Amino acid sequence: EKGKPLMLNPRTNKGMAFSLQERQLLGIHGLLPPKVETQDLQAMRFQKNLKKMTDPLEKYIYLMGIQERNERLFYRVLMEDIEELMPIVYTPTVGLACTQYGHIFRRPKGLFISIKDRGHIRSILDNWPETRVAAVVVTDGERILGLGDLGVYGMGIPVGKLCLYTACAGIRPEKCLPVVIDVGTDNETLLKDPLYMGLYQKRDRTQAYDDLIDEFMEAVVEKYGQDTLIQFEDFGNHNAFRLMRKYREKYCTFNDDIQGTAAVALAGLLAAQRAVGKPITEHRVLFLGAGEAALGIANLIVMAMMENGMTQAEAQKRIWMFDKYGLLVKERSNTDANQVGFVHDSPGNVQSFLDAVNTIKPTAIIGVAGAGRLFTPDVIKAMAALNDRPIIFALSNPTAKAECTADDAYTLTDGRCLFASGSPFGSVTLSNGRVFTPGQGNNAYIFPGVALAVILSGVRHINDTVFLEAAKNLAEQLTDKELQEGRLYPPLSNIREVSVQMAIKARIKTFVMEFVYAKGMAFRYPEPMDKNRFVRSTVWNTEYDSFLPDTYDWPGVKYTPL
Ligand code: NAP
Ligand code: MN
Repeated sequence: EKGKPLMLNPRTNKGMAFSLQERQLLGIHGLLPPKVETQDLQAMRFQKNLKKMTDPLEKYIYLMGIQERNERLFYRVLMEDIEELMPIVYTPTVGLACTQYGHIFRRPKGLFISIKDRGHIRSILDNWPETRVAAVVVTDGERILGLGDLGVYGMGIPVGKLCLYTACAGIRPEKCLPVVIDVGTDNETLLKDPLYMGLYQKRDRTQAYDDLIDEFMEAVVEKYGQDTLIQFEDFGNHNAFRLMRKYREKYCTFNDDIQGTAAVALAGLLAAQRAVGKPITEHRVLFLGAGEAALGIANLIVMAMMENGMTQAEAQKRIWMFDKYGLLVKERSNTDANQVGFVHDSPGNVQSFLDAVNTIKPTAIIGVAGAGRLFTPDVIKAMAALNDRPIIFALSNPTAKAECTADDAYTLTDGRCLFASGSPFGSVTLSNGRVFTPGQGNNAYIFPGVALAVILSGVRHINDTVFLEAAKNLAEQLTDKELQEGRLYPPLSNIREVSVQMAIKARIKTFVMEFVYAKGMAFRYPEPMDKNRFVRSTVWNTEYDSFLPDTYDWPGVKYTPL
C-alpha cells in the first residue's frame, strides 16, 4: 500500500509522524502539514483534548475516532492512562455507547452476521480483511451488561473487550475479531426506532438459532484454525450455559460472564480472606442473583474449597442464592438444572434479602442481580453486626445497577468491610479521615491474561481449572500494602504487567502457562523454556514501524561514482 490509502488505513497511518523520507517514498508528501511530529507529541495533543471533555460519551466517541484513524496512537493514549480510560472504552460508558449505538455510529467496527445469512457465514468471514485472527469475541446482544437486550447495538461490547486484549495483554489488534450475531431483538423500543441498525424482528429462539451458532463456530475454526480462541460475551442466561457446555470440549472457548467473572470474584474473595484471616472453607457466601455470574462464581468457589479438602456437597452447602423469587430452596419449583447444587432445605421463614442475611449469617454477600441498589443500609448494617470484617461485593454493572455504593459500604460498616464493585467507584474518606480505595472486580484483570496464555501456549480447550489458577494468581499479585489501603485487586494502572505476570508468572507460584503445560493442555511445541522472555518478546507495543526499506552497503565494497 502506498499513497493516500496508506494514510486512510488506521493500521498503517502515523499521521504527522511520517518522516520526510517516508512521505517522499510513499507518495504522501504534501498531503500533511510540513512538520514531522513524534508520537509523544501526538499523544499529548489527544490527552489534552480528552482532559477538556467532561461528558464520558463524548470521550468515548473521541477515542473511537482515534482508533479509526491511527491505531497505534489510540493504544498509546489508552495504555498510558488506562485507569482513567478503561471506564470509557469498557464498563460503564461502553454500556451507554451501546444504547446510543445507532446515534453515535461513524464507521463500522467488527463483523456482523445475521440469521438471514445462514449457509453463508464462511463467505462473510472471507470478507474480513485479516487472515491471522487468533481471538474472537462474540455476542448475540441479548444481555448487554445489566442493560438487557440491545440487539445488534451490542457490538460495542466485543469491540471494547478486544481493545482490552491489546491494551492489557499486548495481543496484536489484527489478531482480534469482534463479532455480533443478529438473530433479532425483543427490545420493543429498538424495534420501533427508525435509527436501529439490526433486523427488525423478534429474537429467533428456534433450532435455526442453534444451527447458526454451530455454523459460526465451524466457520471460524475452519478459517482460522482449531485453536482460535472464541470468547462468548453477554449472551442471555438460557443460551450462555447451554452453549458453554456444548462447545467447551470441542473448541477453544470460554464464557466471560460465567467463567471470567468467577475468577475475578474468587480472586477478590481470596484476597479478602487474607484480611479476614479465615480459610476459604470457613466462609459462607450469600448471592443476590442466581444467574450466569452467580453460578459461575459459586462453582469456582466450590472448586477452591474442594482444593482445600472439602467434598463438593460440603462446599455447596456453604453457598446460598437469593433471586427475584427469594431464597433458592427445595420447596420452590422454579429453579433450574444449573442451580441444583445450590438449592437447599429451607432455613425458616425468609421473605426479604435482609431476612436471608440474618438467617444464613453469611461472611460474604455478592450482588450480581443487575437490579440496582438492593444492598440497603439495613443489609449492610446487618453484615457489619454479624462479622468483624464483612465481605461485600456489589458487582452489577453499570454503576447505576450496583447493589450499593462504595460510600455506603465503608460508612455503614465503619470502614470494616472488604468491598469490591463491578464498575469503578472513587476512594472514600470516612469522618475519622481514613481513606479507602475500593476494589474493582473488573473482568479485565482476568480475560486478557488468560487469553494471552491460551494463545501463546496453543491450548485446545479451556476448563475451569485454568480460571482457578488465574484467580489464585491474581490474588497473590496483590501486595499487603495494597490490601491495607482497602484494595482487593492490584491497581488497574498496572494491568499490563498483571496480565503478563498472569500468563507467565516469574515471581509467584501459580501461573497459567506453566499450568497448562504441566497438565498436558498446551499444544505449542517446542515448549518455550524461558516463558518470561517468550511472552515478553511477543507482546505488541505501540511504537510506529518504519516504512523505509532496509538499505545498506556491502562490506568492503566501495563504489565510486563515474
Ligand atoms: P443473569 O444471568 O441474567 O442473572 C441475573 C440474576 O439476578 C437472575 O438470577 C435473576 O433472577 C436475578 N435477579 C434479577 N432481578 C432481581 C431482583 N430484583 N432481586 C433478586 N434477584 C434478581 O445475569 P448475570 O450474567 O448473572 O449478570 C448479572 C449482573 O452482574 C449484571 O449487572 C452484570 O453486569 C454483572 N456482572 C458483573 C461482573 C463484574 O463485575 N466483573 C461480571 C459479570 C456480570 P431471575 O432468573 O429470577 O430473573
Ligand atoms: Mn459481559
